[in-house]
Amino acid sequence: MVIVMAHNATEADIKAVVKRIETLGFRAHLSRGEERTIIGIIGDERRLAGVALEALPGVEAVLPILQPFKLASRIMREEGTVIRIGDVTIGGDTIQVMAGPCAVESREQLLRTAEEVRKAGARILRGGAYKPRTSPYAFQGLEEKGLEILAEAREMFGLLVVTEVMDPRTVPLVAQYADIIQVGARNMQNFFLLRELGKVDRPILLKRGLSATIEEWLMAAEYILSHGNPNVILCERGIRSFETYTRNTLDLSAVPIVKHLSHLPIVVDPSHGLGKWRFVTPMARAAIAAGADGLLVEVHPSPAEALCDGAQSLTPENFHKMIQEIEKVAAAVGRRI
Ligand code: PEP
Ligand code: MN
Repeated sequence: MVIVMAHNATEADIKAVVKRIETLGFRAHLSRGEERTIIGIIGDERRLAGVALEALPGVEAVLPILQPFKLASRIMREEGTVIRIGDVTIGGDTIQVMAGPCAVESREQLLRTAEEVRKAGARILRGGAYKPRTSPYAFQGLEEKGLEILAEAREMFGLLVVTEVMDPRTVPLVAQYADIIQVGARNMQNFFLLRELGKVDRPILLKRGLSATIEEWLMAAEYILSHGNPNVILCERGIRSFETYTRNTLDLSAVPIVKHLSHLPIVVDPSHGLGKWRFVTPMARAAIAAGADGLLVEVHPSPAEALCDGAQSLTPENFHKMIQEIEKVAAAVGRRI
């Protein structure tokens, strides 16, 4: 259930409603929108039977939420969530491009990529220090050394850093270095990890699981939100299908569906979605046309020599071209890069 407060509800009305909910043994989650305040009731709702919350002063309506996710639901927040990190916003009019190599491989590789993506206009640098590899024999990432290199690039080029965490035990360490913490597709339903990330003061980039439905994905976001972190960015990165030509099937239909169901920002990762660099730019254009709030794109100074995901990585030159192309699409849909 959510309680929609009237436009003219006072602070005292809101407080009284919260108090009543808490007295009944629930948690109240406040969402203060521009128009009105919405109060989510968190707990076993069967205990609400027969309680007339409509009768409290300032309450306009008490609405059931039919989906299993509540805090992630659009009903909790009519206007979309805009996440602010310094002067960078995610979910507003500006499309944010997060770009960089799949993995941090060396200081030289990362600094060079960072310089190039910054020059092209990106504000957020990506790069994995902990890599979830299918094979235990593949390059696993530089770990803390990789985080240090990312932090150096941030200082040198004025970029924000997004990087993946795989283990609840390294959440505090990754949070020290990252501006945005990524949860990879393979960990989307690692509920203990999600709970830890609920306690962290960093936005979370939550990638869609390899075979996750949109509802399962939003429920994963709900874990983070319900544990106290309101800043979740969803990332569509392709799902498993019968198609084998591409690495995954990029489900762009998820973009308008997520926008309909949820207030959370959503970005699209055409690199992992397609797995082949030549299709990244066309699908980046399509993602923006579909309403995505940003892109996550792999860029490598020398894709043929990449230790990870070279086949899907853009060269800096192709990344520049991609930015020029998406600028036009962004303008056509009333947004900017
Ligand atoms: C990545 O971003 O490099 C990555 C491992 O992505 P995903 O979790 O979507 O496979
Ligand atoms: Mn990758």
